[in-house]
This record gives sequence, C-alpha cells and structure tokens, in this order.
Amino acid sequence: MTARILVVDDIPANVKLLEVRLLAEYFEVLTATNGPDAIEACENGKVDVVLLDVMMPDMDGFEVCRRLKRDPATAHIPVVMVTALDQVSDRVRGLEAGADDFLTKPVNDLQLMTRVKSLVRLKMLTDELRLRAATTRDIGIEELLSRSFSGGDALPKVLLIDEREPSSEKIRKMLRQAAQVDVADDPHAGFFQAAENAYECVLVSTGFSDFDPLRLCSQLRSLDRTRFVPIILLAEQGEDERVIRGLELGINDYLIRPVDQHELTARLRTQVRRKHYNDQLRASVTQTIEMAVTDGLTGLHNRRYLDSHLQTLFDRAMTRRRPLSVMITDLDRFKAINDTFGHDGGDDVLREFARRLRQNVRGIDLACRYGGEEFVVVMPDTGGDVAHKVAERIRAQIADTPFVVGREGRTVQVTVSVGVSSLLKGPDSVAALMKRADVALYEAKTGGRNRVVANAA
Ligand code: GH3
Ligand code: MG
Ligand code: MG
Repeated sequence: MTARILVVDDIPANVKLLEVRLLAEYFEVLTATNGPDAIEACENGKVDVVLLDVMMPDMDGFEVCRRLKRDPATAHIPVVMVTALDQVSDRVRGLEAGADDFLTKPVNDLQLMTRVKSLVRLKMLTDELRLRAATTRDIGIEELLSRSFSGGDALPKVLLIDEREPSSEKIRKMLRQAAQVDVADDPHAGFFQAAENAYECVLVSTGFSDFDPLRLCSQLRSLDRTRFVPIILLAEQGEDERVIRGLELGINDYLIRPVDQHELTARLRTQVRRKHYNDQLRASVTQTIEMAVTDGLTGLHNRRYLDSHLQTLFDRAMTRRRPLSVMITDLDRFKAINDTFGHDGGDDVLREFARRLRQNVRGIDLACRYGGEEFVVVMPDTGGDVAHKVAERIRAQIADTPFVVGREGRTVQVTVSVGVSSLLKGPDSVAALMKRADVALYEAKTGGRNRVVANAA
C-alpha cells in the first residue's frame, strides 16, 4: 500500500522525525511547516492522509482541520491530529474540528503505522466512490459521502466481546452517544452473536481468562457472515506483540487501555465509515454488472446476456436430453408507430410490450431485448407444441388489448409476428436454432404479420 502523507509541523525536527519513519515504510511524504501551506497542498489534490500538529503559530491545527473539513474539495482527506501527551481537551476540540484520529507525542511506531494505514484504506475507498459518483451520477454514493457521521444518522450497531463486567460497563458508557452497544461476556457466545447479527463493528477485549482473543479474531475473519465486519482490539499496555499478530490476522485497529473515550469514538467512526463505503462499493460493482447485461429501456436482459447464456442453456438441454425452444418476436410496422407518436411514444410501446412478454413467460424462461423492436425468449424444458401455444398466447395478448401511449393516453393497436424453433433430436447448434427461428419469423412477416410460425425442422 503506497500513499502520499502530508506531515505538518512548525518545528522542522518534528517533521523530519515522522518523515523518516514514513519513508522507511515506503510512503511518499510531503511536508509543510504552517497551516496555509498545508491547506494548499491538500487543495492540489495530491494528499491521502494529513498528520497535523496542533500547536502552530498563526493558524493552529484545529483551524487547519476545520477549514479542510469545511471545503468539499478536501473534506474527504483523513486528518490525524498529533497532540501533546494527555491533552484530553485537545482531543475534544479535535473531534469537534472534524479530525479522524489522534496520535500522541512522542509518536509510537506501531500506532503511527496502524493509524496511517487504516486511514489510507479509508481514503482509497472514498476516492473510488467519488470517481464512480462522478462518472455515473450515482446519487446514493454522493449522499453517502456527504454524510457527516457526527450524528443525525442512526447509531451504528456494535458488539463488545469482553468477559470483565467493569470494563465492558465502562466502554458501554463511553459509547452511549456514539453507538448501540451489545455486550457478550463469553467469547464463544460472542462469536455466534457476531455471526447472527449485522454489526457494523466488533470490539474484542484481550482480557479473557482462558481464551485466546486472536483465535476469536481469526474465526471472525474466516466466516463469510463476518468476513467484512471491522474488528477493533482492546489491548493492555505491553501487548504490542499481540497487537502486531492481530493486525497480521486482519484486525482493523486497536486501542491500549486505559481507553480514551475520544480515541475510541474516532476509531469506531472511521471503521464504521469504512464499512459503509465498502458495502456501497460492493453494491455498486454488482449494480454495474447488472447494468451491463440489462436493457435500460425495458429492464429485460440484453443481447449480450443472451449471447453468453443461451449456449449454457443449450448445452444443458443437450446433455440432459431435454427439449428447448426459442421464439423471436418482432413488432409489426413499428416504424409507423414512431412516425405517428414520436420516438417517446414508440418507447412506451416497447416498455409495455416487454411487460406483457414477461407476464406471459415462466420465471425460468429467459426473455431479452434482442435489439430495436425485436425480443427473444428462450424456454428451457419446452417442446415445440408448448412453445407454439405460448407464442400464440403472447400474440393474442398484444393484438387484443390496445397500447396506451404518451401523457394524453392515446391508444394504438399493436401486433407482433413470432418465429418459433426447437431443439432437433439429432445434431444441432445455437446458431442453427436461432437461424430457424429467424426464418420462421420471416415467414410470419411475409405471410401477413400478426401471426406465429413454428419451424418444424
Ligand atoms: P416490420 O413489420 O417489417 O417489422 O416493420 P417495422 O417498421 O417494425 O420494421 P423496421 O425494422 O423497418 O423498423 C423498426 C423501427 O424500430 C425502426 C427504428 O427506428 C425503430 N426502433 C428501433 N429501436 C427503437 C427504440 O429503442 N425506440 C423506438 N421508439 N424505436 C426504435
Ligand atoms: Mg418490426
Ligand atoms: Mg425489425
């Protein structure tokens, strides 16, 4: 994972210190020694994460953070506030300014890398989503990205797995404003609870008397239902080895006890956000795939889908020695409908035709828009006789009920011609099957239209 990190501190030695460590992990590093320069670097669009010193002359870190978060062009860049030790009030002000996380000086290496990597992942997701929103005008993505996560939304559902009651009670209190927390005091029960409910984050305490918390984490990672749920480990001082093993196993972040409320809130918020973005991205990929095989006007499958799927249906019918039929439909004199009612009127007819087609075929039949005013239905397990009956039923349904067109609700008489073909007992192919249906359709057209012709052989 490589990314560009902006280090902002008015003391050059502090900048150098962080720069060296980030370079050693192969991050690219930009530096700034004052607020305005930092903002300018962010505006230039090349920054993935900002490490921001709080105490700076003229414009302090809070003000820089506020300005970055206020500007839509920079609001998505994660900001880590680097605060002096034990400055609780700084963290409160940082959260209010919109900071995504905190680091305490002197900065611990493991914490530095975990924070930065976690936020770089978040930034990559937002970048990808912003790109998609820009190319597809996806309102869902835009809405998601503009959410502040500072309130207003329903509180995220969180599971805390911790067998020590005083500790779990403390965490629950800390998160009262920030999450709906369920507590499991037994690791086995907690695992099942996580699998059975849609939590947005799981907090795992390391303090079990005789259970390895990392086993729990790895189990959560390997189960389908919980593979993508963020995990934050609540560790004790001196458990760095365990934390490192946990990070290798795929936990997303950690906190060292005594847990600071503001850090916990910030980390939880980052993880929940990341999960939302990830979920949205996965949904968007599924949607893109669906769009690629769907006809936009009618919602039926498109020709691309037919081309890839018909062979599968054909092969299956052949190996199982089952019948298979295909019909090609073509609206009669459709050009005249367009001429009379305009292209939009023609589109109304196509949509209504698709609706009636869908109504008259079974769920396992594959109905698609083959192009223009031509549609194809593939009917598995269906012989020529039945296919002919289905085609005739569709023809009648089109001819018998006029179509409503346009806003004024004018009606138009529409008819359709249909060609039907079925699998041969002997050798056959997809191309030959389609060709026979096409020839039958041509016969229906030349025979006077508004009719079904089945190709017998
Ligand atoms: P025939 O009975 O011989 O099939 O006559 P036809 O007029 O239906 O056949 P032709 O293939 O000559 O014309 C089809 C017309 O369908 C021409 C084209 O402009 C129109 N068309 C194709 N796609 C669309 C579409 O998406 N929307 C609309 N409104 N019209 C379309
Ligand atoms: Mg036509
Ligand atoms: Mg045509």
